[in-house]
Amino acid sequence: MKDTDERNYPSAVQSAWNCKCPRCRRGNMFEGSIFSFSRSARQMRTVCPHCELMFEKEPGYFYVAMYVSYVFVVAQLVASCVATYVITGNAESPWLYLTVACAAVIILAPFNYRYSRIVLLYWMTPSFRFRPELYDREPAKAI
Ligand SMILES: [Zn+2]
Repeated sequence: MKDTDERNYPSAVQSAWNCKCPRCRRGNMFEGSIFSFSRSARQMRTVCPHCELMFEKEPGYFYVAMYVSYVFVVAQLVASCVATYVITGNAESPWLYLTVACAAVIILAPFNYRYSRIVLLYWMTPSFRFRPELYDREPAKAI
């Protein structure tokens, strides 16, 4: 029989990338795929379907994710402008940079929405740390 310490649980980065619950790393935090065009599929669940963790631990908690999203957007703006300069070599037209930067931020908006909340819950919320006993547990009733 295997000891629970010997088990290979998914890492925090792997679970965060797959949008799994930060506490059990089994339940999906979102209804559907990031590439889905359906509005309901892009919604975040209120409760983990596996361990019943309430993701929004207090009202307005996800306002903090705006600051994480702000960091993402600034990084994307800088990266898209640097990439535009490297690819085109254009130092004349500000409209080119403005267009590319706006397009990059709009295209990456679903990523920012999703992963700003995930970064907040995984690495900025100490009370949501991983609990291996919940990973092994049977899932909660369908929510
Ligand atoms: Zn969970």
